[in-house]
Parts: sequence; structure tokens; C-alpha cells
Amino acid sequence: MSNTSKAIHAWRKIIGPEWVNMSKEEIHLAETTSFFTTQTVKAILYPKNTDEVSRCVKIANQYLIPIYPISCGKNWGYGSKVPVTTDSVIIDLSRMNQILELNEKLAYVIIEPGVTQSQLFSYLEEKTSGTLWLDTVASSPHTSLIGNAMERGHGTTPYCDRISHCCHLQVVLPNGEIIDTGYGAFPNCKTKNLDSWGLGPAISH
Ligand SMILES: Cc1cc2nc3c(=O)[nH]c(=O)nc-3n(C[C@H](O)[C@H](O)[C@H](O)COP(=O)(O)OP(=O)(O)OC[C@H]3O[C@@H](n4cnc5c(N)ncnc54)[C@H](O)[C@@H]3O)c2cc1C
Repeated sequence: MSNTSKAIHAWRKIIGPEWVNMSKEEIHLAETTSFFTTQTVKAILYPKNTDEVSRCVKIANQYLIPIYPISCGKNWGYGSKVPVTTDSVIIDLSRMNQILELNEKLAYVIIEPGVTQSQLFSYLEEKTSGTLWLDTVASSPHTSLIGNAMERGHGTTPYCDRISHCCHLQVVLPNGEIIDTGYGAFPNCKTKNLDSWGLGPAISH
């Protein structure tokens, strides 16, 4: 069995066979963007939580399969879902689309990577009656906030610089280890969702 087949087998066991997409049509779409590319895609994985992401990454590491993470994969015109390395497996995080916490007083939310601009805009409108609102960017409402932050995206107000206003990222490293950035490393720290720097080196800026 090839390394790819072994990895596919392991991923099916971790996230369920229905979340390992090898459909020719979907893969062709994932290899296509608005300019010419040659990178190919082996499969698309749809983990549903951080633990599954971590376990999938460990398998990729074990079998030396290149991976490419996307949150919603709708970055049309800038590469869409096309990975940077050929023969990659895409890890699509769009199933992780929960808004986990809203703090209206301190004006922050905790979100998963698949949360879209449209979703957060509607959520804030419903939950805060206009006290808080989302400064969106000019792309599709169905693009993610985390994908935009990863690209150092910009909205339009003084809070426009996305990554500068992100705190406490939970990150899966290439070896599958899960880390919390900033003061997120200290679970009981009360400022972990307000102060992005924390102690020691910062990786989110
Ligand atoms: C017409 C148009 C207008 C736009 N206007 C603006 C604008 O005004 N301002 C602006 O800032 N942007 C703009 N953009 C860019 C775009 O909106 C954002 O970058 C978008 O939010 C991407 O969301 P996505 O979920 O589709 O990202 P994805 O396609 O999922 O990801 C984008 C990139 O981030 C990486 N990435 C995504 N999620 C993760 C993750 N969880 N972990 C690690 N890496 C990750 C991916 O590998 C990829 O390289 C525009 C785009 C279009 C097409």
C-alpha cells in the first residue's frame, strides 16, 4: 500500500469515511482557480474539532503528505482552494463553524475557523441589538474571519486590522501539537481574550 493509501485509511478511521472526500468533481474544483495552476489535490478532509485536526496532521506528518488548511476556501481571485504544493491534501475547516462565546461588555467573540462574515454579522445583530457590529471586508459574505486574519486582511474602521485584533489563537502545529498563543497558555488568565501579546515570543503578529 502506498503512503497516501495508508494515510487515507487512517484519516477515514479518525474523522469517518464520509468526511474524506475523494470525489473527482470536488477535487477538480479544488485544483481550479481564476489563473493557471498545476498543483494537484489528493483528497479533502473535513475534521469537526481541534482534536480531529491534530490527529489528521499527525497522520500527514507520519506519511509525509503535504497538507493545505482552508477555513472556507472562497478566496476567489487569490488562489481559491488551490494548495501551494502539488499532491496535497486539503484540510477544510468549514465544519468548525461555531461562535463559542460572546462578551458584549468587553466586545469580543470566540469563534471557530469556519465562522463566516455573514454568520457573525447576523449573530451580533441578533444578540446585541446593534451595540456591536462587524466591520466586514469586500469579499463574499461566506468567507471566513480566520482565513482573512491569516492573510493579514483589512476592513475599514480603526479595528480593521484583523490579526492585530486577534487574541489567544489555538494553533495546531505541523507535528500535530496543539498550542495556545499569548496569555491563552495560562487557562485561568482573565486577560487572555483581550491582550494578544502574553509572555515570551509571539507567533500571531
Ligand atoms: C472580491 C474579493 C474582495 C476582497 N476584498 C477584501 C478586502 O476588502 N479586505 C481584505 O482584507 N480581504 C479581501 N479579500 C480577501 C478575502 O476576503 C479574505 O482573505 C477571505 O476572508 C478569505 O476567507 P476564506 O475562508 O475563503 O479563506 P481561505 O481560502 O480558507 O484561506 C485563505 C488563506 O488563509 C489560509 N488559512 C485559512 N484558514 C486557515 C487556518 N485556519 N489556519 C491556517 N491557515 C489558514 C489558507 O491556507 C489560505 O492561504 C477579498 C477577496 C475577494 C475575492
